[in-house]
Amino acid sequence: MLNKIKVLGSSSKGNAIILFFDNSRIQLDCGLENKEEHLNDLLLISHFHRDHFNETHYGMEENEIKELSTDHKRFYKDLKNIDIEEVNIHHIEENMAFIIRYENETILFLTDVGNMDDINIKPEVAKKITYLLIESNWCWFKMFENKNPEPHHLYSTSPGGHASNLQTLNFICRNKINENAKILFLHKSDSSNDERGEEIFKRLPQKWLVARENQIIYTKNWKEL
Ligand SMILES: [Zn+2]
Repeated sequence: MLNKIKVLGSSSKGNAIILFFDNSRIQLDCGLENKEEHLNDLLLISHFHRDHFNETHYGMEENEIKELSTDHKRFYKDLKNIDIEEVNIHHIEENMAFIIRYENETILFLTDVGNMDDINIKPEVAKKITYLLIESNWCWFKMFENKNPEPHHLYSTSPGGHASNLQTLNFICRNKINENAKILFLHKSDSSNDERGEEIFKRLPQKWLVARENQIIYTKNWKEL
């Protein structure tokens, strides 16, 4: 089973999350240094923006990065029993979502894909999702109060574009994500979000948490350490 989730960071300052399975560790994105990187079995990269992939941590040459970007994954060991499905978002190669399946658990990881209006998950997958790790970047109230709103976010469907809390809620409801799934909201904007944006999630049947720097979550009771 998925036992623990460690968030090293989840914002434009850097994204990196480690999933701890019984005998394996999978890291999602590497926009921050992970001192225990050698303990990972697999690294999955959503897209190649600096906050999700910082090659300086890896001492990689440019051609190695290109090689990686065509594959989107970097295997260290053969992961038995864990199945990884890449989902091409918006039919744009630069951005990948991942469906990770282990025993009877299904984890969907989806971030930086803009408004999500045209992203639909197959119903047979949606009802099996046990963990949803999904971006919820900005709040409408806060965005319009800001002196310098970032309107390009509002309708963006580009890789690196960001979804609002409401757009993320819409995705969850429209796709009928399993009501027993546990949700981790990712990539909150410091400047364009606040607690009012989270109000709209309070009526969701799913249990949810907001990702923050240096956070450890025990999956069994969906509680932070
Ligand atoms: Zn990002």
